[in-house]
Amino acid sequence: MTYSRQRNLIFNIVRNTDVHPTAEWVYEQAKLAMPTIGIATVYRNLNALSQTGLLARIVSPDGTIRFDGSTEEHYHMQCRKCGQLFDLSVVDREAFDELKEAASRAFGMEVENIVLAATLFYGMCPRCAEEKEEEENHEGLKRN
Ligand SMILES: [Zn+2]
Ligand SMILES: [Zn+2]
Repeated sequence: MTYSRQRNLIFNIVRNTDVHPTAEWVYEQAKLAMPTIGIATVYRNLNALSQTGLLARIVSPDGTIRFDGSTEEHYHMQCRKCGQLFDLSVVDREAFDELKEAASRAFGMEVENIVLAATLFYGMCPRCAEEKEEEENHEGLKRN
């Protein structure tokens, strides 16, 4: 088992999924192909790959670190219930320009740029929203 084989395996696992996996998820997948691989190796390679810009590293507000095989400029929406990340490649630029102007007025200084790389949209995914609605219906039935 060579150093570069491990790195290639880990890189390909992240590149070939859109789940924005955690290191633990990558480790579970890597073990299937290389049963002797250790979690420390997975962490080390994920960090090295994101430091060199081959993978993107996303830190959620809850501190969870996830990796993204797509390094093109895009944004994420995170489900606040299950934590899943969804890709968004196009945003309404005008809305950001308006935000920039509003912020400039508020600060009394010209805001030149908003750093969008760390922007995370937050809400609930359709599956969790549906589950929540079912739970609420259940509660309603119990009360009646
Ligand atoms: Zn969800
Ligand atoms: Zn992404």
